[in-house]
Amino acid sequence: MLQYPNLEQALKYNFGYDQFRPGQRQIIEDALENRDLLVVMPTGGGKSLCFQLPALIKSGLTVVVSPLIALMQDQVESLRNNNISATFLNSSLNPHKVRSREEAIRNGKVRLLYVAPERLLSERFLPFLDLVHHQIGISTFAIDEAHCVSEWGHDFRPEYRQLKSLRKRYPDVPTIALTATATDRVRGDIIQQLGLKQPSIHLASFNRQNLYYEVRPKTKSAYAEILELIRETDGSTIIYCLTRKKVDELTFKLQNDKVVALSYHAGLSDEERSKNQTRFIRDDVRVIVATIAFGMGINKPDVRLVVHFDLPRNLESYYQESGRAGRDSEPSRCTMFFSFSDIKTIEWSINQKADPQEQLIAKQQLRQVIDYAEGTDCRRTIQLGYFGERFPGNCDNCDNCRYPKPVQDWTIEAMKFLSCVARCKERFGMLHIIEVLRGAKSQRVIQNKHDKLSTYGIGKDKSLDEWRMLGRSLLHQGLLEQTNDGYSVLKLNALSWEVMKRQRTVSIAVPVVQKLSLVGGSDKAVEAELLLQKLRSLRKQLADEQSVPPYVVFQDSTLKLMAQEQPQSLADFAKLSGVGSHKLAQYGEKFLAEITAYRQEKGIPAQPNYSKDFLAYNNSPNDSELVTLRLHQEGLSIAEIAHKRNLSPSTILTHLSKLMAKNQPVDINQLVPLEHQQKIWQVLEILGDISLTPVKEQLGENYTFDEIRLVREKWRREKCH
Ligand code: ADP
Ligand code: ZN
Repeated sequence: MLQYPNLEQALKYNFGYDQFRPGQRQIIEDALENRDLLVVMPTGGGKSLCFQLPALIKSGLTVVVSPLIALMQDQVESLRNNNISATFLNSSLNPHKVRSREEAIRNGKVRLLYVAPERLLSERFLPFLDLVHHQIGISTFAIDEAHCVSEWGHDFRPEYRQLKSLRKRYPDVPTIALTATATDRVRGDIIQQLGLKQPSIHLASFNRQNLYYEVRPKTKSAYAEILELIRETDGSTIIYCLTRKKVDELTFKLQNDKVVALSYHAGLSDEERSKNQTRFIRDDVRVIVATIAFGMGINKPDVRLVVHFDLPRNLESYYQESGRAGRDSEPSRCTMFFSFSDIKTIEWSINQKADPQEQLIAKQQLRQVIDYAEGTDCRRTIQLGYFGERFPGNCDNCDNCRYPKPVQDWTIEAMKFLSCVARCKERFGMLHIIEVLRGAKSQRVIQNKHDKLSTYGIGKDKSLDEWRMLGRSLLHQGLLEQTNDGYSVLKLNALSWEVMKRQRTVSIAVPVVQKLSLVGGSDKAVEAELLLQKLRSLRKQLADEQSVPPYVVFQDSTLKLMAQEQPQSLADFAKLSGVGSHKLAQYGEKFLAEITAYRQEKGIPAQPNYSKDFLAYNNSPNDSELVTLRLHQEGLSIAEIAHKRNLSPSTILTHLSKLMAKNQPVDINQLVPLEHQQKIWQVLEILGDISLTPVKEQLGENYTFDEIRLVREKWRREKCH
């Protein structure tokens, strides 16, 4: 076990984060006690950290099972950028590379190994694993995307079933199973199929607080709205369409409007698809238009906008697909466009299904999507209710909560509408009824002599969309029926007659025009915007040099902090959330230089607050001191650090005492035995702050100058405060 003063410090040191996300700490504590674990967290909840941090603290190798090559590479890249020794083995590697990686593993140089299930369980690999277990120990099996073990999940993988055999082979190695799939059935299946032993189960809320949900009518202006949304969005966008054809059309239109966009669908060659995907992940293009196939295998945490231009199939897929936005917990938007003709298209395709049972389920699911889209309640209440989670509403981060639709009395209009249905003998669909109401001269109206009806033309004051809205709302409220035979003929029921007899009033929620604005966006944010752009391009440049996605260098939230706080010393830079020890050493100077250049250019004085900056200057350790600090935190002794850095022990000691004077987390207990500390302290209390020699004389041969110097530093700090 590696010793850290506490888990928060281990988190900061390795990953740069200041705090655990909800649930992470408890899970990590359980993992450190070698318990079996089932972790169910929504996308972006921070599942990976739950096995990555224990992997660094526990001794031995953590084996991570992951189904997708792209995901493996992604995680390994991110870990390496934090100087964490991780590697993967999969079919993309040549035998030579495989051998050298295996050797590194056997020599205990690797903390985390990512591997696909089929390789893990292969004849050749298991003996190797035995050897590893024997020589350095396997600390944990982490099974990512654990729902793949279940036939009830959405991507069942037979190989996952065999993972149970690991249990038999290594009964003493604990297993952590992780998934974002919420249903009970899948959960039970995971526990059983993986043979988890009295697992500690952690179920996080599926509420994604950072996502803004909205539904907009898909009117003629929908495309213009998309353009506006893209332009207002600072970051990446995914737009989902139902078919390849629509994907291509929309991409073309966007490109025509000077939006750099690429498409992604099954009609493209593998090569083209993976090229487009990479360009999106690396932030070379900001917009990707895709069928829902896109996004399964990618892990881009900084998608800021997910648009469903067509209606999703069901609420669960909507939750998962829109959930590809804002995995990094930054504010992001999910917009669904909703039109009645989309419903028709989907109904038509449902009716093509041969199996009546399947038809029934699909219809139910469509109904739920429509309820969501047309609903006036908090969108979260509806979504989370679908997963069996109760949410009280008033989230303040969905359209219905932020812009509640005013409810208006439309009883008169409803009476007109329903009596028109009656006069047309309940034999027509919604569009026809509206044509009659609006006095259209269409062929069908004339043929049926509906232009002779008393209701003909009595509704010219309202638009097609408004009548539609009323018609949908009547259906929705159960004041009108519609046949399910593919023709969607409108039928009256008892409630319809109550309305027509003025025994019942009708209210409908009328949408208001919405303004674009995400959470945040204060004046200060606008000021920081310019610097943020500069930091972004620096990040992109550094990422390109290493061929990694920009978020691997720093995530958006960290860049934003830099732009806001504008740190001017490495010490302040180190305090930002997202800056760990390694990233500090690797990128700190470069980003600081960019910030300083910006401030100079803007004429912002280097010392706006004299005393604060003065302290910061005096207090910031230099780079060499920081390296010493890092090694010290890794638990190395003064002699070991000196040896490793090719410096003399006395230099290291000077570093450490300066670091202490600069308020850095030097652990004196690691350097001076407690008993000595106490004795030196006593002497200092008597003699006061004098030079080292008299103190040493007082203490005798057993005490070194080094020890005295360090304790004096601690004593001084205490006396100052
Ligand atoms: P999941 O696998 O649950 O979808 P990830 O493990 O990919 O989520 O984490 C999502 C994002 O959140 C990543 O960018 C990760 O670096 C970040 N993250 C995880 N834990 C923390 C934390 N404690 N503080 C800040 N960011 C975190
Ligand atoms: Zn809400």
